[in-house]
Amino acid sequence: MSKLNLEPINFPGLEPKRPLVIAGPCSAETEEQTLATARLLSAIGVKVFRAGIWKPRTRPGAFEGVGSIGLPWLKKVKEETGMYVGVEVATAHHVYEAIKHGVDMMWVGARTSANPFAVQEVADALKGIDIPVFVKNPVNPDLDLWIGALERINNAGIKQLAAIHRGFSTYDKSEFRNHPQWQIPIELHRRIPELPIITDPSHIGGKRELIADICQEAMDLNFDGLIIETHYNPEKAWSDAAQQLTPEGLKKVLDNLVLRRPKIGDTPRNTLDELRKQIDKLDNDLLDILAARMKVSEAIGKYKQENNITILQSRRYDEIMRDRTERANKRGLDGEFAAKIFESIHEESISCQSAIMNKALKNKEKGA
Ligand code: PEP
Ligand code: MN
Repeated sequence: MSKLNLEPINFPGLEPKRPLVIAGPCSAETEEQTLATARLLSAIGVKVFRAGIWKPRTRPGAFEGVGSIGLPWLKKVKEETGMYVGVEVATAHHVYEAIKHGVDMMWVGARTSANPFAVQEVADALKGIDIPVFVKNPVNPDLDLWIGALERINNAGIKQLAAIHRGFSTYDKSEFRNHPQWQIPIELHRRIPELPIITDPSHIGGKRELIADICQEAMDLNFDGLIIETHYNPEKAWSDAAQQLTPEGLKKVLDNLVLRRPKIGDTPRNTLDELRKQIDKLDNDLLDILAARMKVSEAIGKYKQENNITILQSRRYDEIMRDRTERANKRGLDGEFAAKIFESIHEESISCQSAIMNKALKNKEKGA
């Protein structure tokens, strides 16, 4: 169990309400784009505005944010709309600049929270400051690293702390840009129940079409807030164009959210619904893994066909069955159950490899 010294997030004058909605563009691009987006968001009732000023881009040469010249634009947003404003910080310099320009909240990005040196630098710069700080999960699915980042910021005296769940990168292709792995924020909640969790459907989904469903899922899991990238002209955005909503689109998503009340007597995030969601998620992962395994099997089939090797290699088969049964036992699973599953998987691999061989043979006959 991690013990954090926390206080509720407090934006003065703003009623605590679930979900806390934070919206704004991935990046502040121009003064006009920042202000125009902010005005539209304020008009639909958004109270906390986000905009990236320094952008941690995967490859050099992409738009890396406008830098400090964008901070006065955020000040104008505050003055004109009364919204609270927040930026991502990754270095001590970012923290000092943000404070100098009256920024109200900050978040630590996913690439930064994966690096304890960087988090410590940000934490040291935050000493003596009392504003809300949000810590995104690290890009890799490592709950302890995420908690470590939260602890570093908390140890610096930041008590208004929240976690942002933005999904985890995976090598495998999936419908998500960053796999949600809901079980990780659920476990974070179990370990630190008083820590608010904000979901970032934009970076999880990577496409605006997925945002509504991810928001609903977050609400069904009883998470506390949503941070949603919103741009007055998303298609023309300089970063993350595919995942940003228009303010009008955001309004639709928020209006359609169903806020279910946890059942009386249930611990909020331990309902049957939640357990079923975990099962759905795990089944989906199993299917992803099976599909990936079958792809490798096909590659083996092609190799065997090109090198004239028989499909069934019985020594290899025996070895697989023995090894998998043993591994199943070690995990507390029934060996016979595992054997049945692997027999069936193996059967499917063999039939897929036979199909490859037959096709190659037919092609050869046709060519002959
Ligand atoms: C962002 O919020 O625009 C951002 C860069 O997010 P992440 O750190 O989650 O990739
Ligand atoms: Mn972004």
